[in-house]
Amino acid sequence: MDSKKRLCQKPPKTFKLLHDTAIFNVTKLWQNGSTLQVQFLNYIYDADGNKVNDPKYVWASWEKAWIGYIITDTIMKYANLNFVFHLDLNNTGTLPPGITPDIIITKNPKGGAWSYVGTDCLNYSKPTDQSAPEPTMNLGWLDAPYDTPFTFQGASYTTGTGFDQGGYTNGLSGTIVHEFGHTVGMLHELQTPFGAPFTFNRDATYAYFAGPPNNWNSADTDSNVLDLIDRNQKNGSNFDKDSIMKYSFPCKLINETGPTICSYIEYTTEILSNCDKYWLGINYPGKPLVSCPLASNLWPVITPTPGPTPVPNPIISKLFPDKISFEYILLFLGIILVIASTLLFLFSII
Ligand SMILES: [Zn+2]
Repeated sequence: MDSKKRLCQKPPKTFKLLHDTAIFNVTKLWQNGSTLQVQFLNYIYDADGNKVNDPKYVWASWEKAWIGYIITDTIMKYANLNFVFHLDLNNTGTLPPGITPDIIITKNPKGGAWSYVGTDCLNYSKPTDQSAPEPTMNLGWLDAPYDTPFTFQGASYTTGTGFDQGGYTNGLSGTIVHEFGHTVGMLHELQTPFGAPFTFNRDATYAYFAGPPNNWNSADTDSNVLDLIDRNQKNGSNFDKDSIMKYSFPCKLINETGPTICSYIEYTTEILSNCDKYWLGINYPGKPLVSCPLASNLWPVITPTPGPTPVPNPIISKLFPDKISFEYILLFLGIILVIASTLLFLFSII
């Protein structure tokens, strides 16, 4: 198992942190059927926003093609979204005329693996202040098998060693799928509001993620691991241990013990689970729907809303007012007097 874990979900810089899992943030879904333009950048930005050029940030052709190949074969099979991967094989740094990017991917080996969530990407790829577009995703490593031929967009490629020196040799590409999961609106399964069967030991968790390769402060660990996702405006299955949006931790980070519970968090998922596929289809309908055996949590939830304030019947309320006034007492006594007088009169006749 590689030491580089899939830890990510870059929080939006200018928005409140949103934590999400196969849990979707339904407020950040792309319009169903969208075509999303994907650009690969051959440079990164430093902390001051300046471009940094270095050969290690330049994508190899097969790396770009591999990402397109994986997403075409996974997310695009189940979600009604069309990612257009602009491979820019001559590294011109441009897209075809009239095309602007929706998704911008950098390869910064020291930048971790992360993506903004859903349409938050547009805040960076299409900034309203006309400043330079920023990356919406970074892949700090590329999990691909070595020396494997594949075909994408009608051309043949062979995978190389890429920039992953860690040894993802199992032929699976969970990190790529996981990050694109965020891109289509998915959140971290371990933070599910839909019933995770464990709780984290907070001190152990902070200590673990404060170390490499994450080097997170407590706020980072809170937003990526510890904070439960608010179930408001989210949908998805009950906790899915097989979700691509789950990532693996040592069992010592949770309070519960036992081989079953540890198996939930210690193994790394590398492929879309059936529930991931199902919810991709629910949120982006149009592709054949895969069944999910877990219970569903749909949004919007239909909650009873207060009806109009009942209008009192004017006649009833006149007869039975909330507060009996002096006039009513006089009226009541008057009626009694009339009835009594009538009865006396009738008795006197008899
Ligand atoms: Zn993530």
